[in-house]
Amino acid sequence: MMLEKVVIANRGEIALRILRACHALGIKTVAVHSTVDRNLKHVAMADESVCIGPAPSAQSYLDIPAIIAAAEVTDAQAIHPGYGFLSENADFAERVEKSGFIFIGPTADVIRMMGDKVEAIRAMKAAGVPCVPGSGGPLGEDGDENHRIAKEIGYPVIIKAAGGGGGRGMRVVHTDAALLNAIVTTQSEAKAAFGNGQVYMEKFLENPRHIEIQVLADGQGQAIHLGERDCSMQRRHQKVVEEAPAPGITDAQREQIGRVCVEACLRIGYRGAGTFEFLYEDGAFYFIEMNTRIQVEHPVTEWVTGIDLVREQLLIAAGQKLSIQQSDVIIRGHAIECRVNAEDPDTFMPCPGLINHFHAPGGPGVRVDSHIYEGYRVPPNYDSMIGKLIVHGVDRAQAIARMRVALGEMIVDGIKTNLPLQQRIMADRGFQLGGMNIHYLEKRLKEQQTSGLG
Ligand code: ADP
Repeated sequence: MMLEKVVIANRGEIALRILRACHALGIKTVAVHSTVDRNLKHVAMADESVCIGPAPSAQSYLDIPAIIAAAEVTDAQAIHPGYGFLSENADFAERVEKSGFIFIGPTADVIRMMGDKVEAIRAMKAAGVPCVPGSGGPLGEDGDENHRIAKEIGYPVIIKAAGGGGGRGMRVVHTDAALLNAIVTTQSEAKAAFGNGQVYMEKFLENPRHIEIQVLADGQGQAIHLGERDCSMQRRHQKVVEEAPAPGITDAQREQIGRVCVEACLRIGYRGAGTFEFLYEDGAFYFIEMNTRIQVEHPVTEWVTGIDLVREQLLIAAGQKLSIQQSDVIIRGHAIECRVNAEDPDTFMPCPGLINHFHAPGGPGVRVDSHIYEGYRVPPNYDSMIGKLIVHGVDRAQAIARMRVALGEMIVDGIKTNLPLQQRIMADRGFQLGGMNIHYLEKRLKEQQTSGLG
C-alpha cells in the first residue's frame, strides 16, 4: 500500500523537503499556506494548494479545522505536520485521525506523553533510559520538601516547566535562598506560557554537550536507531550548527545508547521518526526530552547513513514495515549543517525583506535545503530560518573545509543573514577541535566583542 495524496501542513524549507519526498514516491501533494505565503516555492510545485488563512500562524498554520478542511476538500489521505507549528500537538494528531486521515507521526497518546516532560522522564526511566538526576515528578507546595530535594540532587539545580519547549520555561538555581522564589516564578511563567504550571527539578549540568539519537519505528514491532547528532553549538538554547557523527563518540557508545533508545521505542509503542535528546557530560548520557517529529537537523543523519528519513516517515504512515535492519545502518564520513537565518549576524535581530540576489553553492558533498529564490520576500511573520546548508566529507576536516567553501559561495543579497557568523564558527579553533559544550558558542560570542572569534 502507498499513500496517494498528502497535505503538507507547514511552510518554508521543510514543506519543500516533504514535497520532494512525496513526489519521489509518486505521492501527490497539497500545499496549505497563509496569504503571505502564496509565493512559496513548494506552493508552486504542489499538485494542489489551499489558502488557509491570513499571515498570523494562529489563523493559518495553527488553525486545526482549516487544515483538516483542506484535507477534506482535496480528498487527501494523510497530513504531514513537519516541525514546529502543530507537529507535536496531540490534539491535532487526534483530530486528524478522528476525521479519517492518517497523521504522519506517532499516535496522539505518545505525543501527549512526550509533551509532558514529567511524564516523558517517568516513562523513559521505566524503559531504562538514563535521565538527569532530579525530582522524578512535579514539585509540590511544601517548601521544606523542595529544599530537601534540591539538597539531595545538589546545587546548582534547574527548575523546568513540564509543558515547556523551545528553550523557554527554565531557571537555574545556585543557592538554597533563591530556590523557593525560582520555583514560584517558573510555575507562574509556565502557567501563562504553556497553560500548565507544573514544574520539576533537575541537576543543572554545568558543561554538557547536546547529543541526540535519531530513531525510526514502524509501530509494528520494528525499530532502529540511526546514530547520533551533536547539536552543542547553540545560542539561547537554539541550535546553530549540527553534525553527525558526534566528535569523540565511540562505536561502542553509539551502539549502547542507540540500543537503549530502540528498546524504549518498542516499549512505548513508538511509530515514525523521533529523536531522543540527551545532555552528555563526562562520558555519560542524560535524557532530557524526546521530539516526536522530524527535526530541522535531520539531513546530517541522512547523509552519513544514506537513509531518506522523510521517505521512511511516509512509508511507515502508509502502514509498511521497516525495511531497514539495524545492521544496514552504517555511518560513513561526516556531515555538518549550518542553519541560515535572515538575521543580523552581530545583533541577531530578524531581518525579513526582499531577496534581490541569490546564488546557491554547489559541488561535491554540498546540499542546500531552502525555499528561497531571487525575488522572494521573507515575511516577518515566521521563524527567521531561510534554509540550511549541509555538507558531507570523508572526515570532519573535509566537511569543515567544504562548508567554508560553500558558505563563501552562497550569496543572499537584500537582507542580512547569519552567513558571516557561520563562517566565523567554521574558522574557530575550538569548533575545529570538536566536542565543545553547549555554552561554548555564547562564550566565544561574548569574547568576540573584545578579541574576535577565530
Ligand atoms: P526545550 O524543550 O525547551 O528545548 P530541553 O529540556 O530540551 O527544553 O532543554 C533545552 C536546553 O536547556 C538544553 O539543550 C540545555 O541547553 C538546557 N538544559 C536543559 N536541562 C538542563 C540541565 N539539567 N542541565 C543543564 N542544561 C540544561
